[in-house]
Amino acid sequence: MRDTLVINCGSSSLKFALIRSATQETLASGLAEKLFEPEPVLTVKHAGAKETVKLSGQGHSIAMQGILDALNTRGLLSEVANVGHRVVHGGEFFKSATVINEKVLEAIEQCIPLAPLHNPANLLGIQSAMEAFPDLPHVAVFDTAFHQTMPEHAYRYAVPSSLYREHGVRRYGFHGTSHQYVTGRAAELLGKPLADTCLISAHLGNGCSITAVKGGKSVDTSMGMTPLEGLVMGTRSGDIDPNLHQFMAQALNLNVDQVTDLLNKKSGLLGLSERSNDMRELEEARQAGHAGATLAIEVFCYRLARYVAAMAVPLGRIDALIFTGGIGENSRFVRENTLRHLGIFGFELDAERNQSMVGGPSGQITTDRGPVALVVGTNEELMIALQTEKVLS
Ligand code: ADP
Repeated sequence: MRDTLVINCGSSSLKFALIRSATQETLASGLAEKLFEPEPVLTVKHAGAKETVKLSGQGHSIAMQGILDALNTRGLLSEVANVGHRVVHGGEFFKSATVINEKVLEAIEQCIPLAPLHNPANLLGIQSAMEAFPDLPHVAVFDTAFHQTMPEHAYRYAVPSSLYREHGVRRYGFHGTSHQYVTGRAAELLGKPLADTCLISAHLGNGCSITAVKGGKSVDTSMGMTPLEGLVMGTRSGDIDPNLHQFMAQALNLNVDQVTDLLNKKSGLLGLSERSNDMRELEEARQAGHAGATLAIEVFCYRLARYVAAMAVPLGRIDALIFTGGIGENSRFVRENTLRHLGIFGFELDAERNQSMVGGPSGQITTDRGPVALVVGTNEELMIALQTEKVLS
């Protein structure tokens, strides 16, 4: 058996999953967190059990060593054949997953100005995994790569072209691994070759983005140069008037970093509701009559519906609208409310199907009359493992 260790490294946490691609099984998974706090911990799920242990020190290398030990004591280490790394930003360098070497590391480093929070953490993850597994091949799988097929008229901003040429200012898009995975699954569910499909994929988690996928290729997406653009998200505003920056700077006496922080961390569902960034909690609050929660969900669904309409433009027709991510896979109310805005396309919700689609299953939530809306569970770790295997074969 050849297993893939999938690594998703953040600035203070390190997620892993051990995937057996041949059977698409997750053998073990876990999270090392609070890496720079006094007591970093590692939680491992394996064979139906969950165990949390203290790590022997701070930082990413010790976390990686902890993961290695945890796999070893469970007899899982010997089958690890390769390591797949989630990397957020690949700029224009990477159109697909790639085997990591010195040149690749340099290019990921060059993309740091485009993803200053994510790429340095991803590099730390790669570095510590390469120390822990020096003899295995390591592969980088980029969130942006799937969107490199967008045509120029979709990815350029109407700002001076020198900004694109000299600083890479353009739309890149994110969540590519998820959009690619669920559109592949949707084609299977529809019983059509992927090459003949026109799909709209809405990934709705803490971050949210929507992508138009024609014949398996991304042709437009809602996130831009950074993940702030597009849909309303847990704490991110999504689209706003760009002049809001100047207004807030003057009205609230904030600097650019503070405005950026407000739009990324204090806006979205949290900012609108003044209650929570968590959709489940907001749905409960809405039911209890909370006006802020009601408004936040309404804006979320309306903006999403408007973006579905926008994504129909490059497709010409819609074979299916896909809901995925924690909200897409579970929130019956968000799906119903979003489709209600989309009467123009003829979507007709099947209430019973919609009710049954929560917590795991994939399938259709519309009647058999209009265009299809599907719930499809995403699995980014599996997709990273599959791509890692593909690159290496
Ligand atoms: P991440 O982007 O961090 O991976 P997830 O994809 O897990 O996040 O999505 C998290 C979101 O999914 C949260 O807003 C959460 O409230 C929402 N969610 C999860 N389960 C439900 C549910 N049963 N009903 C409504 N929302 C849910």
